[in-house]
Amino acid sequence: MQIEPQAFDRVLSSMCTEPHPVAREAAERFLATNPGDPGTYPTITALEDDAVAMLGEITGLEEPAGYIASGGTEANIQAVRIARERAETRTPNVVMPESGHFSFQKAADVLGVDLRIVPTDDSFRADLEAVRACVDEQTAMVVGVAGTTEYGRVDPISELGDIAASVGAMLHVDAAWGGFVLPFTDHEWHFGHAPVDTMTIDPHKMGQAAVPAGGLLARSDDLLDALAVDTPYLESTSQATLTGTRSGAGVASAVAAMRELWPEGYREQYVRAQHNAEWLADALEKRGYDVVEPTLPLVAADLPRSTFDALRADGWRISRTATGELRVVCMPHVTREMLASFISDLDRLEVR
Ligand code: PLP
Repeated sequence: MQIEPQAFDRVLSSMCTEPHPVAREAAERFLATNPGDPGTYPTITALEDDAVAMLGEITGLEEPAGYIASGGTEANIQAVRIARERAETRTPNVVMPESGHFSFQKAADVLGVDLRIVPTDDSFRADLEAVRACVDEQTAMVVGVAGTTEYGRVDPISELGDIAASVGAMLHVDAAWGGFVLPFTDHEWHFGHAPVDTMTIDPHKMGQAAVPAGGLLARSDDLLDALAVDTPYLESTSQATLTGTRSGAGVASAVAAMRELWPEGYREQYVRAQHNAEWLADALEKRGYDVVEPTLPLVAADLPRSTFDALRADGWRISRTATGELRVVCMPHVTREMLASFISDLDRLEVR
């Protein structure tokens, strides 16, 4: 049976991309390995250590702890779990800006934690006053987003760290999407810039690894201890992951992609993606649409619903923000030619 997978030539909405050729090849080779069982599959376990070490290098963390998760959702759930386990209260809460990813809602539901959502400011970043007013002695974690899903904004991470520290809470940074572009910007977002305790950074997004390859990082091993459960029937003694059996494909492809691309390949990719985002923002602005300036390679613009629907009917894979703006993510597979073709379809529809 031969079923063709989704082509990427009209995909503008995804935060995942075509894996780099070396990542694809590594994924295929390690498809039948299970890093959830290190005693049986030691090679992939060693590769996972490499992956975590490289993620540490990218995020300014000297002695990184962590693992390759199924994605940003698992990493965020596990970060909340760490905070809940370490909190000295039976009624912990997590404080997050409204720009936070919906995976925290899942975390709160599964873990029985109170998720407190605070507004963002005029620039779509966490409103610090609102965060300050919301934390209390029961706050286990403050979340900052480094590369928001809708507008690609980076929260003031240091300030959020100060607020978290003022109530003895942990600081989690969700850089699931932004983590592989931010090293080439002036933003302050990582362990070296602020008192970050845990971080999500996904190789299967801007890192060009194959799905599933999310990343959970922690400042030290003892934070991960909060997740460890005993594993009686395995040769290894404990497991910190949420899933049990998991594919080695994501782990191997993450290592392959990072070895190939860090740092120069990712830098070139960021520059290309950012230029594309600015080109698109400019093209939309010239046509009279309200555009949210792309601080990272993600463009949002106010398009009439009928135009949006017509573009989707034309085969464009585009999505909308909660307030209805068109959202285009300039992932590595998004070329200038694709964007030019998108704009020319838009022009054709608007004259009709
Ligand atoms: N965090 C952020 C900032 C995201 O943008 C996303 C997904 O787009 C996630 C977490 C969830 O990642 P995943 O879909 O890999 O679980």
